[in-house]
Amino acid sequence: MPVYEFECSCGTISEDLVRVGTRSITCPQCGGRAKKIMSPCAFELKGGGWYADGYASSKSTISGSASGDK
Ligand SMILES: [Zn+2]
Repeated sequence: MPVYEFECSCGTISEDLVRVGTRSITCPQCGGRAKKIMSPCAFELKGGGWYADGYASSKSTISGSASGDK
């Protein structure tokens, strides 16, 4: 089961394991209705794996040369 993020109108964002198709959960803070947020991270990995991979490798190259042994 996928983990979704839910945002309430009170500003609380919570993650929860829910069934596919669940659109809202009860906010743990105020008890109101928290709506599901479409995760941009999961969407990007699904739709553009080549881009995510290229970005990750160029990023690690930069940090690797900067920090030396890391
Ligand atoms: Zn709330």
